[in-house]
Amino acid sequence: MAATLRQVGPTDQNATTAEIDKQLSDDLIESLIDASLGARQNSYSPYSKFPVGAALLAHDGTVITGCNVENVSYGLTVCAERTAVCRAVVKGHRKFKAIVITAEMGDRFVGPCGVCRQTLAEFGLDWEVYLSMPNKQYMKTTVGRLLPDSFSPEWVTLGNPA
Ligand SMILES: [Zn+2]
Repeated sequence: MAATLRQVGPTDQNATTAEIDKQLSDDLIESLIDASLGARQNSYSPYSKFPVGAALLAHDGTVITGCNVENVSYGLTVCAERTAVCRAVVKGHRKFKAIVITAEMGDRFVGPCGVCRQTLAEFGLDWEVYLSMPNKQYMKTTVGRLLPDSFSPEWVTLGNPA
């Protein structure tokens, strides 16, 4: 049976007009989930056997994917979110609309680890994060909700007046 796009979890009943204007269409969400699933197939995860895929949507509409890349020295493992961000920066992208992260852990959504939350926050707090399962169920949140009261680039700027 083909997977069917379905949003679950909290909805944006309290979303502001600006947030609603930014919401992605179902077609775009599904294409990003498909892109993250494709990247997930290339995951290098022989140790955890926990493949993860990510698809970043840059402001200009470009989609950049990532997957987790593990290492025998476990601490060197790089998550899917960060490989996507690094690939995007190499291509000149620094503004993002959304990231889809796809992993499978029963009926639970898998959120980004703390390091990845900080990496995403480097590029702003007000952009969307979709946590998706291979069956295309997804939960929507934002970088700011995943990392409240974050340490962000503005703090460094405040501490170092020009
Ligand atoms: Zn991570």
